[in-house]
Amino acid sequence: MKNWTPNSWRDFPIKQQPTYNDLEALKQVEKEIASYPPLIFAGEALNLKKQLAKVVNGEAFLLQGGDCAESFNAFNATNIKDLFKVIMQMAVVLTFSGGCPVVKVGRVAGQFAKPRSSDFEDINGISLPSYRGDIINDIDFTSSAREPDAQKLIKAYNQSAATMNLLRAFARGGMADLNQVHLWNLDFVKDNTLGSKYEELADKISQSLAFMKACGITSENTPQLNQTTLFTSHEALLLNYEESLTRRDSITKDWFNCSAHMLWIGDRTRELDGAHLEYFRGIKNPIGCKVGPSMKEDELIRLIDALNPENEAGRLNLIVRMGAEKIADHFPKLLKKVEDEGKKVLWSSDPMHGNTIKAENGYKTRDFESILSEVKQFFQIHKAQGSYAGGIHLEMTGQNVTECTGSKSAAITQAGLADRYHTQCDPRLNADQALELAFMIADTLKE
Ligand code: PEP
Ligand code: MN
Repeated sequence: MKNWTPNSWRDFPIKQQPTYNDLEALKQVEKEIASYPPLIFAGEALNLKKQLAKVVNGEAFLLQGGDCAESFNAFNATNIKDLFKVIMQMAVVLTFSGGCPVVKVGRVAGQFAKPRSSDFEDINGISLPSYRGDIINDIDFTSSAREPDAQKLIKAYNQSAATMNLLRAFARGGMADLNQVHLWNLDFVKDNTLGSKYEELADKISQSLAFMKACGITSENTPQLNQTTLFTSHEALLLNYEESLTRRDSITKDWFNCSAHMLWIGDRTRELDGAHLEYFRGIKNPIGCKVGPSMKEDELIRLIDALNPENEAGRLNLIVRMGAEKIADHFPKLLKKVEDEGKKVLWSSDPMHGNTIKAENGYKTRDFESILSEVKQFFQIHKAQGSYAGGIHLEMTGQNVTECTGSKSAAITQAGLADRYHTQCDPRLNADQALELAFMIADTLKE
């Protein structure tokens, strides 16, 4: 194998990339971003890897979630705060009800580039390049909007930096204080049965905190009570951007991607001889790879060997996204093969991407029942194999959107999708639906 460098991926075939007309402008932008400060530092990524190793060993659970695609338009403090709150709510449900420590990773502060099923979008006889995420082009259906623009990489960097800054402030500055557990309940969730279920749990936590305080345990001597860590992650699809933020750690001398703590490879760009695998094998961050229904057993073993040759626990998260209809057929044999070969990987379930359907009124949606079903089957398959279902990967938002149908709490119908359908790309769970799912997983973890 040839030597790895941050740009050695350029010698490999690559999929799902935009065609820039002005390559000189792209080069200038790459140079500019390469001079910017990193968004994370290597020590943090290594800390996440250690925490993920605990997940591999069955001692913690990974909660990864956020938008399908972040957008420049929906960039504001409220959206970031509401996502932070739902992640905190889900984490306390899992920790308190499920009795399991939770590693929190947002699909946030860099989740901009999107793979598409087709390079072109056709509407009324007009064909234009597909929208590939705000880091690449605009969603409007005009030829100028769909033209890839290298300046957008700089805007994405700046938005990621500001998002990260606010998330760090929330995590350390009081928003994660367990004494605030009641305040994380978002207004629109509060009034339904799920909101009350959460309030009951929050009351119990408050009582426990009062008891602990009487025993002398407070946030002054136990900072875990009012601080947390929310790590960041995104699909590292646009490698020009990722390369510019790939830096050598001065302590370990290893290369890290400093645009997020954890990066993953999408299901459409995971070819063994492709550019994405080449890029990922050289960075030392914890990484993920989506595993869809077309994955073969031997292919998966080769992929694991390429990405995690030292069989290090916490390095590789396999994000299984088969669909509720397919998981029972496709997943058990893959799981068995990997477990039989003694590969140390984190298994998490993405119950979103295999369950996307088109509603009768044309909206791209996912039904809550299929999502639940895939998660439940994921847990059962692990139980039967004797392995550990380590985490969940969700597309979700703190906003009261109507993008996925169903759930007891939100009860969204296909006709109701039109009310508040705001996603840039794939349909997300709203806060109600995400919380309902967290309660279901907590029950399963307790078993
Ligand atoms: C995604 O996570 O938004 C995505 C495109 O997933 P996948 O690669 O699994 O299709
Ligand atoms: Mn998606």
